[in-house]
Amino acid sequence: MNVRTITPANALPAGTERPSLIGLSRPALAAALREIGVPERQLKMRTQQIWQWIYNRGVTDFAAMTNIAKGLRADLHNAFTIARPEVVSRQISVDGTRKWLLRLPADPQTGARHEVEMVYIPEPDRGTLCISSQVGCTLNCTFCHTGTQRWVRNLTAGEIIGQILLARDDLGDWPDALKDNPDPPASGRYITNIVFMGMGEPLYNFDNVKTAVDIIADNEGISLSKRRITLSTAGVVPEIPRAGAEMGVMLAISLHATTDEVRNRLVPLNRKYPIAELLQACRAYPGLSNARRITFEYVMLKGINDSVADAKRLVNLLKGIPAKVNLIPFNPWPGSPYECSDWETIERFAEIINRAGYASPIRTPRGRDIMAACGQLKSASERQRAAQRKRLAENA
Ligand code: SAH
Repeated sequence: MNVRTITPANALPAGTERPSLIGLSRPALAAALREIGVPERQLKMRTQQIWQWIYNRGVTDFAAMTNIAKGLRADLHNAFTIARPEVVSRQISVDGTRKWLLRLPADPQTGARHEVEMVYIPEPDRGTLCISSQVGCTLNCTFCHTGTQRWVRNLTAGEIIGQILLARDDLGDWPDALKDNPDPPASGRYITNIVFMGMGEPLYNFDNVKTAVDIIADNEGISLSKRRITLSTAGVVPEIPRAGAEMGVMLAISLHATTDEVRNRLVPLNRKYPIAELLQACRAYPGLSNARRITFEYVMLKGINDSVADAKRLVNLLKGIPAKVNLIPFNPWPGSPYECSDWETIERFAEIINRAGYASPIRTPRGRDIMAACGQLKSASERQRAAQRKRLAENA
Protein backbone atom coordinates (compact mmCIF):
# COMPACT_ATOMS: atom_id res chain seq x y z
CA MET A 1 0.00 0.00 0.00
CA ASN A 2 1.39 3.35 -0.93
CA VAL A 3 -0.39 6.08 0.98
CA ARG A 4 1.85 8.76 -0.43
CA THR A 5 0.09 8.94 -3.74
CA ILE A 6 -3.25 10.24 -2.48
CA THR A 7 -3.39 13.54 -4.30
CA PRO A 8 -0.36 15.08 -5.89
CA ALA A 9 -1.54 18.53 -4.79
CA ASN A 10 -1.35 17.52 -1.16
CA ALA A 11 1.23 14.79 -1.02
CA LEU A 12 4.10 15.54 1.32
CA PRO A 13 7.70 14.82 0.42
CA ALA A 14 8.43 11.10 0.23
CA GLY A 15 10.27 9.72 3.18
CA THR A 16 9.91 12.76 5.35
CA GLU A 17 6.43 13.04 6.79
CA ARG A 18 3.13 11.27 6.74
CA PRO A 19 0.72 12.79 4.23
CA SER A 20 -1.69 15.31 5.65
CA LEU A 21 -5.45 14.87 5.48
CA ILE A 22 -5.85 18.63 5.74
CA GLY A 23 -6.83 20.29 2.49
CA LEU A 24 -8.13 17.18 0.72
CA SER A 25 -11.46 17.52 -1.06
CA ARG A 26 -14.15 15.10 0.20
CA PRO A 27 -13.53 12.63 -2.66
CA ALA A 28 -9.76 12.78 -2.07
CA LEU A 29 -10.30 12.20 1.65
CA ALA A 30 -12.50 9.20 0.86
CA ALA A 31 -9.80 7.86 -1.47
CA ALA A 32 -7.19 8.24 1.27
CA LEU A 33 -9.38 6.27 3.67
CA ARG A 34 -9.95 3.57 1.04
CA GLU A 35 -6.19 3.17 0.74
CA ILE A 36 -5.79 2.31 4.40
CA GLY A 37 -8.53 -0.27 4.11
CA VAL A 38 -11.71 1.49 5.25
CA PRO A 39 -14.49 -0.67 3.74
CA GLU A 40 -16.43 0.79 0.83
CA ARG A 41 -19.76 0.84 2.70
CA GLN A 42 -18.24 2.93 5.52
CA LEU A 43 -16.42 5.41 3.34
CA LYS A 44 -19.09 8.07 3.18
CA MET A 45 -19.77 8.03 6.90
CA ARG A 46 -16.08 8.00 7.89
CA THR A 47 -15.27 10.80 5.48
CA GLN A 48 -18.06 12.84 6.98
CA GLN A 49 -16.97 12.16 10.55
CA ILE A 50 -13.31 12.95 9.96
CA TRP A 51 -14.21 16.03 7.94
CA GLN A 52 -16.24 17.39 10.85
CA TRP A 53 -13.56 16.59 13.41
CA ILE A 54 -10.92 18.38 11.37
CA TYR A 55 -12.80 21.47 10.19
CA ASN A 56 -15.65 21.87 12.62
CA ARG A 57 -14.16 20.80 15.89
CA GLY A 58 -10.51 21.52 15.21
CA VAL A 59 -8.97 18.38 16.67
CA THR A 60 -5.23 18.03 16.11
CA ASP A 61 -4.97 14.37 17.07
CA PHE A 62 -6.78 11.32 15.67
CA ALA A 63 -7.09 10.01 19.24
CA ALA A 64 -9.69 12.72 19.93
CA MET A 65 -12.06 11.40 17.24
CA THR A 66 -14.23 9.60 19.75
CA ASN A 67 -16.93 8.31 17.40
CA ILE A 68 -14.34 6.40 15.39
CA ALA A 69 -13.28 2.90 16.43
CA LYS A 70 -9.97 2.74 18.28
CA GLY A 71 -8.35 0.47 15.68
CA LEU A 72 -9.16 2.84 12.86
CA ARG A 73 -7.92 5.80 14.89
CA ALA A 74 -4.59 4.00 15.25
CA ASP A 75 -4.48 3.22 11.51
CA LEU A 76 -5.18 6.85 10.72
CA HIS A 77 -2.44 7.95 13.07
CA ASN A 78 0.06 5.57 11.49
CA ALA A 79 -0.74 6.60 7.93
CA PHE A 80 -1.56 10.31 8.10
CA THR A 81 -1.15 13.55 9.96
CA ILE A 82 -3.47 16.45 10.78
CA ALA A 83 -0.67 18.54 12.24
CA ARG A 84 -0.52 22.30 11.71
CA PRO A 85 2.33 24.15 10.06
CA GLU A 86 5.21 24.81 12.42
CA VAL A 87 5.20 28.26 14.02
CA VAL A 88 8.54 30.06 13.85
CA SER A 89 7.28 33.21 15.54
CA ARG A 90 4.13 34.92 16.72
CA GLN A 91 3.94 38.69 17.06
CA ILE A 92 1.17 40.90 18.37
CA SER A 93 0.97 44.57 17.38
CA VAL A 94 -0.05 47.34 19.77
CA ASP A 95 -3.29 47.55 17.75
CA GLY A 96 -4.08 43.85 18.28
CA THR A 97 -3.02 42.71 14.80
CA ARG A 98 -1.23 39.38 14.94
CA LYS A 99 1.39 37.99 12.62
CA TRP A 100 2.64 34.44 12.36
CA LEU A 101 5.75 33.25 10.58
CA LEU A 102 5.15 29.63 9.56
CA ARG A 103 7.55 26.94 8.42
CA LEU A 104 6.43 24.41 5.84
CA PRO A 105 7.49 20.76 5.49
CA ALA A 106 10.77 20.06 3.71
CA ASP A 107 10.83 20.20 -0.09
CA PRO A 108 11.50 16.75 -1.56
CA GLN A 109 14.34 17.79 -3.85
CA THR A 110 16.21 20.39 -1.87
CA GLY A 111 15.19 19.55 1.68
CA ALA A 112 14.66 23.27 2.22
CA ARG A 113 11.91 24.31 4.60
CA HIS A 114 10.27 27.45 3.33
CA GLU A 115 8.37 30.04 5.31
CA VAL A 116 5.25 32.11 4.81
CA GLU A 117 3.47 34.76 6.82
CA MET A 118 -0.14 35.14 7.89
CA VAL A 119 -1.89 38.09 9.55
CA TYR A 120 -5.02 38.44 11.70
CA ILE A 121 -6.72 41.83 11.84
CA PRO A 122 -9.37 42.22 14.55
CA GLU A 123 -12.01 44.93 14.17
CA PRO A 124 -14.98 45.67 16.45
CA ASP A 125 -17.49 43.85 14.24
CA ARG A 126 -15.33 41.32 12.43
CA GLY A 127 -11.98 39.58 12.28
CA THR A 128 -10.09 39.12 9.05
CA LEU A 129 -7.45 36.50 8.44
CA CYS A 130 -5.06 37.36 5.63
CA ILE A 131 -3.48 34.20 4.25
CA SER A 132 -0.70 33.39 1.80
CA SER A 133 -1.06 31.32 -1.36
CA GLN A 134 2.57 31.03 -2.50
CA VAL A 135 6.06 31.10 -1.03
CA GLY A 136 7.38 34.37 -2.43
CA CYS A 137 5.83 35.91 -5.53
CA THR A 138 6.61 36.09 -9.25
CA LEU A 139 5.11 39.50 -9.87
CA ASN A 140 7.80 41.92 -8.64
CA CYS A 141 5.49 44.86 -7.99
CA THR A 142 7.93 47.63 -7.24
CA PHE A 143 6.16 48.96 -4.12
CA CYS A 144 5.64 45.55 -2.49
CA HIS A 145 8.07 44.01 -0.03
CA THR A 146 6.95 40.46 -0.81
CA GLY A 147 7.76 41.24 -4.43
CA THR A 148 11.44 41.57 -3.55
CA GLN A 149 11.48 37.97 -2.38
CA ARG A 150 11.98 35.41 -5.12
CA TRP A 151 9.17 33.01 -5.96
CA VAL A 152 9.74 29.55 -4.58
CA ARG A 153 6.61 27.46 -5.00
CA ASN A 154 2.84 27.24 -4.73
CA LEU A 155 1.32 26.28 -1.42
CA THR A 156 -0.71 23.07 -1.39
CA ALA A 157 -4.39 23.26 -0.46
CA GLY A 158 -3.39 21.65 2.84
CA GLU A 159 -0.86 24.38 3.53
CA ILE A 160 -3.43 27.07 2.71
CA ILE A 161 -6.08 25.53 4.97
CA GLY A 162 -3.45 24.68 7.61
CA GLN A 163 -2.92 28.42 8.10
CA ILE A 164 -6.59 28.91 8.97
CA LEU A 165 -6.70 25.94 11.35
CA LEU A 166 -3.60 27.15 13.13
CA ALA A 167 -5.01 30.66 13.52
CA ARG A 168 -8.22 29.21 14.95
CA ASP A 169 -6.15 27.16 17.44
CA ASP A 170 -4.24 30.23 18.59
CA LEU A 171 -7.26 32.51 18.76
CA GLY A 172 -9.47 29.97 20.55
CA ASP A 173 -11.82 30.09 17.57
CA TRP A 174 -13.29 26.57 17.80
CA PRO A 175 -16.79 25.86 19.16
CA ASP A 176 -15.55 24.25 22.39
CA ALA A 177 -13.23 27.13 23.22
CA LEU A 178 -15.79 29.78 22.26
CA LYS A 179 -18.40 28.11 24.46
CA ASP A 180 -16.12 28.53 27.49
CA ASN A 181 -14.98 32.05 26.57
CA PRO A 182 -16.30 34.55 29.15
CA ASP A 183 -15.78 37.41 26.71
CA PRO A 184 -16.54 36.03 23.24
CA PRO A 185 -16.15 38.18 20.11
CA ALA A 186 -19.23 40.22 19.18
CA SER A 187 -19.49 38.46 15.83
CA GLY A 188 -19.58 35.03 17.47
CA ARG A 189 -16.30 33.92 15.89
CA TYR A 190 -12.86 35.46 15.84
CA ILE A 191 -12.32 34.79 12.15
CA THR A 192 -15.32 36.05 10.16
CA ASN A 193 -13.54 36.88 6.90
CA ILE A 194 -10.72 35.36 4.90
CA VAL A 195 -8.69 37.35 2.40
CA PHE A 196 -6.14 35.91 -0.01
CA MET A 197 -3.96 38.98 0.38
CA GLY A 198 -0.86 37.55 1.98
CA MET A 199 2.16 36.42 0.04
CA GLY A 200 1.76 35.32 -3.55
CA GLU A 201 -0.64 35.61 -6.45
CA PRO A 202 -3.61 33.32 -5.77
CA LEU A 203 -4.65 33.09 -9.43
CA TYR A 204 -1.25 31.58 -10.26
CA ASN A 205 -2.12 28.77 -7.84
CA PHE A 206 -5.67 28.34 -9.07
CA ASP A 207 -6.40 24.67 -8.36
CA ASN A 208 -5.09 24.61 -4.80
CA VAL A 209 -6.76 27.92 -3.97
CA LYS A 210 -10.03 26.59 -5.38
CA THR A 211 -9.84 23.41 -3.29
CA ALA A 212 -9.15 25.57 -0.24
CA VAL A 213 -12.07 27.90 -1.02
CA ASP A 214 -14.42 24.91 -1.26
CA ILE A 215 -13.35 23.77 2.20
CA ILE A 216 -13.62 27.26 3.69
CA ALA A 217 -17.15 27.69 2.30
CA ASP A 218 -18.33 24.12 3.07
CA ASN A 219 -21.21 24.21 5.56
CA GLU A 220 -19.72 21.34 7.47
CA GLY A 221 -16.21 22.61 6.91
CA ILE A 222 -14.92 25.99 8.01
CA SER A 223 -18.32 27.35 7.06
CA LEU A 224 -17.69 30.94 6.03
CA SER A 225 -19.89 32.12 3.20
CA LYS A 226 -18.26 32.97 -0.13
CA ARG A 227 -19.28 36.57 0.42
CA ARG A 228 -16.78 36.57 3.26
CA ILE A 229 -13.92 35.17 1.21
CA THR A 230 -12.01 37.68 -0.91
CA LEU A 231 -9.43 36.78 -3.48
CA SER A 232 -7.06 39.59 -4.40
CA THR A 233 -5.28 39.54 -7.74
CA ALA A 234 -2.79 41.82 -9.42
CA GLY A 235 -4.76 41.12 -12.62
CA VAL A 236 -4.20 37.66 -14.09
CA VAL A 237 -6.89 38.39 -16.66
CA PRO A 238 -7.38 34.92 -18.23
CA GLU A 239 -8.08 33.37 -14.81
CA ILE A 240 -10.64 35.96 -13.69
CA PRO A 241 -13.66 34.45 -15.52
CA ARG A 242 -12.70 31.02 -14.17
CA ALA A 243 -12.44 32.40 -10.66
CA GLY A 244 -15.96 33.79 -11.04
CA ALA A 245 -17.42 30.60 -12.48
CA GLU A 246 -15.58 28.03 -10.38
CA MET A 247 -14.90 29.77 -7.07
CA GLY A 248 -17.56 32.47 -6.85
CA VAL A 249 -15.62 34.42 -4.25
CA MET A 250 -15.50 38.18 -3.82
CA LEU A 251 -12.88 39.77 -6.03
CA ALA A 252 -10.33 42.43 -5.18
CA ILE A 253 -8.12 43.95 -7.86
CA SER A 254 -4.78 45.53 -7.07
CA LEU A 255 -5.18 48.40 -9.53
CA HIS A 256 -2.89 51.12 -8.14
CA ALA A 257 -2.69 53.26 -11.29
CA THR A 258 -4.91 54.83 -13.92
CA THR A 259 -2.62 54.78 -16.95
CA ASP A 260 -0.79 51.83 -18.47
CA GLU A 261 2.41 53.82 -18.41
CA VAL A 262 2.37 54.16 -14.60
CA ARG A 263 0.86 50.72 -13.97
CA ASN A 264 3.55 49.06 -16.11
CA ARG A 265 6.08 50.44 -13.65
CA LEU A 266 4.19 49.58 -10.46
CA VAL A 267 2.70 46.23 -11.45
CA PRO A 268 4.86 44.77 -14.24
CA LEU A 269 2.13 42.18 -14.99
CA ASN A 270 0.28 45.10 -16.60
CA ARG A 271 2.56 44.81 -19.65
CA LYS A 272 0.93 41.45 -20.30
CA TYR A 273 -2.62 42.35 -19.27
CA PRO A 274 -3.20 46.10 -19.60
CA ILE A 275 -5.81 48.12 -17.72
CA ALA A 276 -8.53 47.99 -20.40
CA GLU A 277 -8.43 44.18 -20.57
CA LEU A 278 -8.39 43.91 -16.80
CA LEU A 279 -11.44 46.14 -16.39
CA GLN A 280 -13.26 44.27 -19.15
CA ALA A 281 -12.78 41.04 -17.19
CA CYS A 282 -14.10 42.84 -14.09
CA ARG A 283 -17.21 44.05 -15.93
CA ALA A 284 -17.94 40.46 -16.94
CA TYR A 285 -17.41 39.01 -13.44
CA PRO A 286 -20.52 36.99 -12.59
CA GLY A 287 -22.99 37.97 -9.89
CA LEU A 288 -21.99 41.61 -9.48
CA SER A 289 -24.53 43.95 -7.93
CA ASN A 290 -24.58 46.85 -5.54
CA ALA A 291 -24.52 44.36 -2.70
CA ARG A 292 -21.72 42.39 -4.33
CA ARG A 293 -19.07 44.79 -5.56
CA ILE A 294 -15.51 44.42 -6.74
CA THR A 295 -12.96 46.04 -4.46
CA PHE A 296 -10.25 48.02 -6.19
CA GLU A 297 -7.13 48.40 -4.11
CA TYR A 298 -5.17 51.57 -4.72
CA VAL A 299 -1.92 52.18 -2.87
CA MET A 300 -1.25 55.90 -2.36
CA LEU A 301 2.25 56.76 -3.59
CA LYS A 302 3.43 60.34 -3.28
CA GLY A 303 3.75 62.06 -6.63
CA ILE A 304 3.25 58.82 -8.56
CA ASN A 305 -0.46 58.00 -8.70
CA ASP A 306 -2.16 60.41 -6.30
CA SER A 307 -3.10 63.48 -8.40
CA VAL A 308 -6.57 64.95 -8.94
CA ALA A 309 -6.27 63.86 -12.58
CA ASP A 310 -5.64 60.28 -11.40
CA ALA A 311 -8.73 60.37 -9.21
CA LYS A 312 -10.84 61.61 -12.13
CA ARG A 313 -9.40 59.00 -14.49
CA LEU A 314 -10.12 56.31 -11.91
CA VAL A 315 -13.77 57.34 -11.74
CA ASN A 316 -13.98 57.08 -15.53
CA LEU A 317 -12.32 53.69 -15.60
CA LEU A 318 -14.74 52.24 -13.07
CA LYS A 319 -17.87 53.36 -14.93
CA GLY A 320 -20.38 50.53 -15.14
CA ILE A 321 -18.66 48.32 -12.56
CA PRO A 322 -20.28 47.88 -9.13
CA ALA A 323 -17.15 48.90 -7.29
CA LYS A 324 -15.63 50.10 -4.08
CA VAL A 325 -12.17 51.63 -3.83
CA ASN A 326 -9.88 50.79 -0.95
CA LEU A 327 -7.25 53.50 -0.63
CA ILE A 328 -4.17 52.02 1.02
CA PRO A 329 -1.63 54.43 2.48
CA PHE A 330 1.72 53.09 1.29
CA ASN A 331 3.45 51.06 3.96
CA PRO A 332 7.18 51.62 3.78
CA TRP A 333 9.73 48.85 4.16
CA PRO A 334 13.53 48.99 4.43
CA GLY A 335 14.90 50.30 1.14
CA SER A 336 11.50 50.93 -0.47
CA PRO A 337 11.73 53.40 -3.35
CA TYR A 338 8.44 55.23 -2.63
CA GLU A 339 6.85 57.50 -0.06
CA CYS A 340 3.28 57.56 1.18
CA SER A 341 1.10 60.39 -0.12
CA ASP A 342 0.32 63.22 2.30
CA TRP A 343 -2.84 62.79 4.32
CA GLU A 344 -4.59 65.76 2.66
CA THR A 345 -3.79 64.33 -0.75
CA ILE A 346 -5.30 60.98 0.23
CA GLU A 347 -8.42 62.70 1.56
CA ARG A 348 -8.79 64.81 -1.56
CA PHE A 349 -8.46 61.70 -3.68
CA ALA A 350 -11.05 59.85 -1.58
CA GLU A 351 -13.44 62.77 -1.83
CA ILE A 352 -13.41 62.76 -5.65
CA ILE A 353 -14.09 59.01 -5.81
CA ASN A 354 -16.76 59.31 -3.17
CA ARG A 355 -18.57 62.16 -4.90
CA ALA A 356 -18.75 60.00 -8.02
CA GLY A 357 -20.77 57.48 -6.00
CA TYR A 358 -18.14 54.93 -5.01
CA ALA A 359 -17.36 54.05 -1.41
CA SER A 360 -13.72 54.96 -0.93
CA PRO A 361 -12.55 54.07 2.56
CA ILE A 362 -8.97 54.85 3.48
CA ARG A 363 -7.54 51.68 4.93
CA THR A 364 -6.06 52.34 8.34
CA PRO A 365 -2.64 50.75 8.38
CA ARG A 366 -2.67 47.88 10.85
CA GLY A 367 0.25 46.12 12.45
CA ARG A 368 2.90 48.41 10.99
CA ASP A 369 5.02 48.03 14.14
CA ILE A 370 5.41 44.31 13.47
CA MET A 371 5.75 44.68 9.66
CA ALA A 372 2.37 43.02 9.20
CA ALA A 373 0.75 45.74 7.10
CA CYS A 374 -0.12 45.34 3.40
CA GLY A 375 2.95 44.72 1.30
CA GLN A 376 5.32 44.39 4.24
CA LEU A 377 5.28 40.61 4.41
CA LYS A 378 8.54 38.96 3.71
CA SER A 379 9.71 36.09 5.81
CA ALA A 380 12.21 36.95 8.51
CA SER A 381 14.66 34.32 7.33
CA GLU A 382 14.59 35.88 3.89
CA ARG A 383 15.26 39.29 5.47
CA GLN A 384 18.17 37.81 7.40
CA ARG A 385 19.58 36.22 4.27
CA ALA A 386 19.34 39.55 2.46
CA ALA A 387 21.11 41.28 5.36
CA GLN A 388 23.82 38.65 5.28
CA ARG A 389 24.31 39.04 1.52
CA LYS A 390 24.63 42.77 2.05
CA ARG A 391 27.22 42.33 4.81
CA LEU A 392 29.23 39.93 2.65
CA ALA A 393 29.11 42.34 -0.27
CA GLU A 394 30.25 45.22 1.92
CA ASN A 395 33.17 43.20 3.31
CA ALA A 396 34.25 41.91 -0.08
N1 SAH B 1 -0.85 39.18 -5.52
C1 SAH B 1 -2.17 39.54 -5.04
C2 SAH B 1 -2.33 39.27 -3.56
C3 SAH B 1 -1.50 40.16 -2.65
S1 SAH B 1 -2.57 41.30 -1.92
C4 SAH B 1 -2.44 40.98 -5.39
O1 SAH B 1 -1.53 41.66 -5.86
O2 SAH B 1 -3.56 41.43 -5.25
C5 SAH B 1 -1.53 42.42 -1.15
C6 SAH B 1 -2.07 43.82 -1.31
O3 SAH B 1 -1.21 44.75 -0.65
C7 SAH B 1 -2.10 44.21 -2.76
O4 SAH B 1 -3.19 45.04 -3.04
C8 SAH B 1 -0.82 44.99 -2.85
O5 SAH B 1 -0.83 45.79 -3.97
C9 SAH B 1 -0.83 45.75 -1.55
N2 SAH B 1 0.50 46.25 -1.20
C10 SAH B 1 1.67 45.71 -1.55
N3 SAH B 1 2.70 46.42 -1.06
C11 SAH B 1 2.16 47.43 -0.35
C12 SAH B 1 2.72 48.48 0.42
N4 SAH B 1 4.03 48.61 0.59
N5 SAH B 1 1.88 49.35 1.02
C13 SAH B 1 0.54 49.18 0.90
N6 SAH B 1 -0.04 48.21 0.17
C14 SAH B 1 0.76 47.32 -0.45
